[in-house]
Amino acid sequence: MINKISHLGIAVKDLKAASETYRKLLQSEPSEPEFVSEQKVNVVKFTIGESTIELLEGTSPDSPISKFIEKRGEGIHHIAYESDDVKSDLKRLGDEGFELINKEPRVGSDNMLIAFVNPKSIGGVLTEVCQH
Ligand code: ZN
Repeated sequence: MINKISHLGIAVKDLKAASETYRKLLQSEPSEPEFVSEQKVNVVKFTIGESTIELLEGTSPDSPISKFIEKRGEGIHHIAYESDDVKSDLKRLGDEGFELINKEPRVGSDNMLIAFVNPKSIGGVLTEVCQH
């Protein structure tokens, strides 16, 4: 079951510069940068209350984040919903006709189980379902 919004993912060209911008904006310190090899991204998180902002920087031209920025520029990349059982939510969404990018969850930052749903299924919004 999907319980709440987990985080917003924001695609940035320069993680260091973006971290500084968000540090000033939110008056909050970022997490230590984490490299997620599967997606070829560096990730930094800001937590404000119950909400998290995830800054994503591609580390290679074939990273999904680098490709996104090339096509659409920097900005909001995805919205992530927290699930208590990502596997069963993926099955449910597949049965409902959503086009799944990941049919099986994989490991993202913070060792979360994550899976993406194709933005074509959801009015252009790349959607992640994740589980801690
Ligand atoms: Zn995310």
